Amino acid sequence: MKHIVILGDGMADLPVERLGGKTLLQYAAKPMMDQLAKEGRCGRLITVPEGFPPGSEVANTAILGYDLNKVYEGRGPLEAASIGYEMADDDLALRCNIINLQDGKIITHNGGNLETEDARLLIDYLNETLAKPINEREGCERVKFITGIQYRHLLVIKGGNKYITCAPPHDHPNEEWRPLLVKADIPEAQETADLLNDLILKSQELLPKHPYNQAKAAKGERQANSIWPWSGGYRPSMETLMQQYPDIKSGTVISAVDLIRGIGHYAGLKIVEVEGATGLADTNYEGKAQAAIEALEHDDFVFVHVEASDEAGHDGDLELKLKTIEYLDQRLIKPIYEHILKMNEPVCLAVLPDHLTPVEMRIHVGQPVPFLIWHKGITPDEVQQYDELSCVSGSYGLLKLQEFMHEFMKIQ
Ligand SMILES: [Zn+2]
Repeated sequence: MKHIVILGDGMADLPVERLGGKTLLQYAAKPMMDQLAKEGRCGRLITVPEGFPPGSEVANTAILGYDLNKVYEGRGPLEAASIGYEMADDDLALRCNIINLQDGKIITHNGGNLETEDARLLIDYLNETLAKPINEREGCERVKFITGIQYRHLLVIKGGNKYITCAPPHDHPNEEWRPLLVKADIPEAQETADLLNDLILKSQELLPKHPYNQAKAAKGERQANSIWPWSGGYRPSMETLMQQYPDIKSGTVISAVDLIRGIGHYAGLKIVEVEGATGLADTNYEGKAQAAIEALEHDDFVFVHVEASDEAGHDGDLELKLKTIEYLDQRLIKPIYEHILKMNEPVCLAVLPDHLTPVEMRIHVGQPVPFLIWHKGITPDEVQQYDELSCVSGSYGLLKLQEFMHEFMKIQ
């Protein structure tokens, strides 16, 4: 049996007054998901362990069957994997935003809409002016900046200590940056905290001198005038899915989101690029469906992640979020389902979100999410449609974290 998980990021929601008290999954026209729920078996899943924030990286790692307490290392290592940087065991990898500061405050976490091509120049410049002198002094490659996408980059500290507290810059708009500098959690991490704070302060001297920022200043536009490292960690000690589930010989992850690709990489999955996959409602659903269908031909496990519902939820856009659910249903799940019917080999399919991103709250909520599991010949339970309420009476009941993957992979 092959297995495919189709994940609609943040798709689950809460009852909405404007929809007559229905949730978006209850209200949206999604005949495919309803058919699969009716023919298959349903349940609910707790995707966020206690003590963890309801982040996509947390929930998706749990859905893939990993114990967050053992493998969670923050965003830095996931982004490293996503941009193709293979971490050494003594690397500390941090997400490194390039942000905009003014009058002692964090104005934006994104450097005033910095584009990747410009960011590449700034990152090269930081390596030359900031990292190189430190590396020459220490006689090793102690500090390295690596270009990612737009304002999201990577900072690697060789021999860095991860027991530090950093402030995610998007959580602190219009706050003074100085009190948010890196703090050591244990005495051994003080040197790392000092080094990072030194890098932040020096970046604030250097970056405004770069021609990119000089041009921005001349136009009165926001400069990308400080680095801001956060969410650091070591290389996750994750066993691959192939090591954990003997039935998986090879697998693929399809996602436009760096963090999800990073999780996939450490899980031993191939990362497939899909042209026009944007992470938004205009994403190339058909292209993703086609990529999934192709992956099913040669792999045993496929993880398709679609970000669009989450973004619509963050934007508080009810109509758009409804559309993303309907697009997922008709433009992604339907063609995959129709292909599975034609395949000689049996395929087990699951549909679920990672967490709620309620349109009226615009943030992630870590409540249980509804899931459905279907394959040819499965004995159905009583659930007739796929949504938050219907799945309460599903035969899987309420599963916790890794239990989903264990149950899913039991189906052979
Ligand atoms: Zn998510």
